[in-house]
Amino acid sequence: METSNAKTNGRTLKVLFNCAKCPGYCCSYDRIEVTKKDLLRLAKHFKLSYKDAEKKFTKIAWGDRVLRHRKDRVFKSICQFFDQTARRCTIYEARPEVCREYPDNVRCAYYDFLKAERRRQGDEDFIPSA
Ligand code: SF4
Ligand code: SF4
Repeated sequence: METSNAKTNGRTLKVLFNCAKCPGYCCSYDRIEVTKKDLLRLAKHFKLSYKDAEKKFTKIAWGDRVLRHRKDRVFKSICQFFDQTARRCTIYEARPEVCREYPDNVRCAYYDFLKAERRRQGDEDFIPSA
């Protein structure tokens, strides 16, 4: 089973998923919530005012402030901060708290599914259709 280390809530855990081998399913969630603290961090990272960062990077959906998306070739859409070629976050140090915590477990359900499908297909790069 693939393993890697990840920091979760300040603890370093041996986890049973490998984000480097995943097309970034969690970043395709429509509802990636952004708190005021997250926005302050984003604004500082991009040297923008709080209001400008709020307008540029977020929108209100389902009554919450969430990250804006853009179209993606793998999933219907994905977070605008996702590098669609390298399939990874471009603002790792400035990412919102919810991104830092996910999946808050030694396992990621999507990665388990991905591994099972890749094993079934005999293709280590297989990506199930979204
Ligand atoms: S879905 Fe799971 S394995 Fe894929 S990037 Fe997110 S946390 Fe990593
Ligand atoms: S900020 Fe980074 S980790 Fe969070 S959803 Fe966007 S690309 Fe993924």
